[in-house]
Amino acid sequence: MRPDGLYPRLLDIATRRAIEPIVGAPYLSIAAWLRDFSNWPPDQRANWQHERLEEVLAHAARHVPFYRDLAGGSRISLRSLPIVDKARIRSDSRAFRSEQTLPSVPKRTGGTTGDPWAYELDLQAWAHVYAAGIEFWERVGYRYGERIAVLGTPPSLISGANGWKGRLRRAVERRVYPSAGIETHHEASLAHARAASEARAVLWYGYASMLAGMADAVAAEGLSLPGPRAIVTTSEPLLSEWHRRIEAAFGVPVYDQYGCNDGGVLAQTCREGRFHVAENVSLLEVVEGDTPCSPGVEGELVVTNLHARVLPFLRYRVGDRAVLGEGTCPCGQSGATLERVAGRTGDRLRLPDGTELSLPGLTTAFWEAPHVCRWQLVQPELGRIRVRLELADGFDDAEAARLEAALRKRCGDAVAIELVADEPFERAPAGKLQVLISRVDA
Ligand SMILES: [Zn+2]
Repeated sequence: MRPDGLYPRLLDIATRRAIEPIVGAPYLSIAAWLRDFSNWPPDQRANWQHERLEEVLAHAARHVPFYRDLAGGSRISLRSLPIVDKARIRSDSRAFRSEQTLPSVPKRTGGTTGDPWAYELDLQAWAHVYAAGIEFWERVGYRYGERIAVLGTPPSLISGANGWKGRLRRAVERRVYPSAGIETHHEASLAHARAASEARAVLWYGYASMLAGMADAVAAEGLSLPGPRAIVTTSEPLLSEWHRRIEAAFGVPVYDQYGCNDGGVLAQTCREGRFHVAENVSLLEVVEGDTPCSPGVEGELVVTNLHARVLPFLRYRVGDRAVLGEGTCPCGQSGATLERVAGRTGDRLRLPDGTELSLPGLTTAFWEAPHVCRWQLVQPELGRIRVRLELADGFDDAEAARLEAALRKRCGDAVAIELVADEPFERAPAGKLQVLISRVDA
């Protein structure tokens, strides 16, 4: 037995007997059940999904005004429903909320969309997506209760945010945070790699760019640090170059996770590089307009959450583009796959000195500005960045100065930064806010 073996066993017992009843969500029990579920025959999994779907549809038809009006007293079928997006739901949020009070948790989408959104998610939906995350990590050699190093600390990577429950969960789950914020320069990257290695975490989980930075720093120093059993990247696209360099530097397999909080999509790559979808969480469609795309054809990703009733996500356009996988994945694991997710690429700023800044790196600058509701960053020419802001009451000169300094730190002195509060935002056709608009030719 590994020296680490006792704690996971004790935590498993404590979680199921004490923590789950207190939290009211059987996330670890679901994670254990998922090991069976993912090996069920395809039609048995489809039946299970169908039953969950019928429940959320029936609830929506009875208790959610928008869907009740559509249903007109009869049952509704998924395919007959209009595709909705965040802009549509927010424009009429009362109509999309259940009139029934159900156990739920407050959720807030990360700032990475430039359009933070607070909403209520059913406790059961939360438990299913959390369990799916645990089971995905188990597929790459982790056992619940073993130590994890989290690289990058945006709110979306910290479970339960910063309340006492979140802090307790992080301690119980033995998560260590070798870094504050997202830094990818050499010295910081080297320090992160050393800290993660010294923490003897079995899994490293974090931003692809940070892990790539760590790999490059370690390679440049010619170091050989003891690594984890596996590395899972998230939140930004894992460029194939990064993938190769991270594996080479640490000598362990690297997997990529794709998730979308609102709606509830979770998927993780296998050794063949395909994203396997958490089928207990949601149903996925890929469409162009209203027309379904065949596997292999890129389109917009549309999700239906199988547990969300407080705020149903039924045919919800998440704003990313993706390609459905064709047939069974060569790795042998059956179930829905995405051949690739295309929507997260391209969000980069090129600076006058040639360096590129990715969106997550810029997002952290806005943590300095709690009264910014929405932002959009436009680069009309190489040396100029215009930051459009939508502001809440309470934004003052001091906050503006902090924000500008934070942006300045990331963009350097060769760029003129203008904050503007009275300029309309540009939107993509689907209504999704395009956060970064660079008119500089690559
Ligand atoms: Zn596979």
